[in-house]
Amino acid sequence: GNQEPKYKRVVIKLSGEALLNRETGEPFDPPVLESIARQLKEVHELGVEIAIVVGGGNIFRGLKGEKRGVDRTTGDYMGMLSTVINGLAFMDVIEKMGIPVRVQSAIPVEKIAEPFILRRAKRHLEKGRIVIFVAGTGNPYFSTDTTAALRASEMGADVILKATNVDGVYDKDPKKYPDAKKYEKLDFLEALRKRLKVMDSTAFSLCLDNKMPILVFSMQEEGSIRRAVCGEAIGTVVTA
Ligand code: UDP
Repeated sequence: GNQEPKYKRVVIKLSGEALLNRETGEPFDPPVLESIARQLKEVHELGVEIAIVVGGGNIFRGLKGEKRGVDRTTGDYMGMLSTVINGLAFMDVIEKMGIPVRVQSAIPVEKIAEPFILRRAKRHLEKGRIVIFVAGTGNPYFSTDTTAALRASEMGADVILKATNVDGVYDKDPKKYPDAKKYEKLDFLEALRKRLKVMDSTAFSLCLDNKMPILVFSMQEEGSIRRAVCGEAIGTVVTA
């Protein structure tokens, strides 16, 4: 395939669910973590600047806690802490592949991660380090998709790569409807008009307002992240 990267600086959103071991229900599946890290290494070797925003859904979500009697805000902090755990797991596998990596947290945890400092994060990228952003935005009522939209905007990224287990945006749920059709390209207004769910509404409107393109794709196959970064027809791209 085409080895020329289309994007120079990317923010990759990894959902917590993508890390889950589907058979045992354990929060991490080492082969999955390693596959993602290998894919990142490939992209790193192309000279692309990589920032990662990790989710926490494999461990805890605020909304789930609320259904079990935990206050929404408490649950959200538990969710944010889950992303710290995921970020550290990632840091470890990425580092073991020989790539320099730094973790920056939106909630101070100075013994285990740097605080989020925009200029320092940019500097890490320029020096070829992968930066992992954890603890979301640091505020309850937000999501890590919103965090990705925020970080991508403030870091001046070229695109958000939303890596999930579904290979794009469909006109209806492909798990329920076998005749669901995948879109290759969409613009923001089209996505709104057709009520397609690309990201939650806060994340989506941030991207819309800042003209930040979103590429939704599946990273289950090896090489998917490279293909996405090289602009191959993979997933669905949503642009202004
Ligand atoms: N969260 C939050 N504020 C943020 C980001 C995340 O309160 O800025 C909490 C929220 O409870 C969320 C949880 O952290 O459910 C895990 O994040 P998310 O659901 O986005 O993870 P993913 O679905 O990507 O695994």
